[in-house]
Amino acid sequence: MRRQPVVVLDPGHNGGNASNPGVINKQVPAGRGETKACNTTGTATNAGYTEHAFNWDVARRVGEELTARGVRVVYTRDSDTGVGPCVDERADIGNDANADAVVSIHADGSTSSGAHGFHVAYSSPALNAAQGEPSISLARTLRDTLRQTFPVSTYLGSDGLAPRDDLAGLNLSVRPAALVECGNMRNAVEAAAMSTSDGRQRYADAIAAGILAYLG
Ligand code: ZN
Repeated sequence: MRRQPVVVLDPGHNGGNASNPGVINKQVPAGRGETKACNTTGTATNAGYTEHAFNWDVARRVGEELTARGVRVVYTRDSDTGVGPCVDERADIGNDANADAVVSIHADGSTSSGAHGFHVAYSSPALNAAQGEPSISLARTLRDTLRQTFPVSTYLGSDGLAPRDDLAGLNLSVRPAALVECGNMRNAVEAAAMSTSDGRQRYADAIAAGILAYLG
């Protein structure tokens, strides 16, 4: 019998981060010999809907869809009221789970005029085999499903993809990993979609479809 696929979902940030700067500002390994803050608070819409709440809600919706399709889902945090975990610990969760795919879920907060759209980041240059073709394939597949519903970023990456060397969770992953920036919470149209249950379900549907397509 085929092994049950395992997917680690990593909702960015956490609801308790802002009130615990001493914990989240601690420096941790970020890969490539660098360090960075354990975690950050994330952004919010102009009306105050937070990125950590958005990420958490979308991740749970993705997880429900994957679970219904027979995937074992592991989350990097178990609520939206905790602190952290640090970015290196999030990577460890994916590695320790021997995940077939690790997907981090975020939203951006750019104030550049007209900036909108999603992009999918992956580690580049690759630091191990999983960060090569497997991670690029995961990122491309997520990009392909997301763009059936959402516009690609007008201001980051190229054609909805962003190779990055500075994202700790991706640098430290030894499993296929990608980070989805769903859109710009400071853009009025995207903020409106992200602030509704229906809108979040559309993001979740696209991300779940991408993961399932990648798993084959
Ligand atoms: Zn974020």
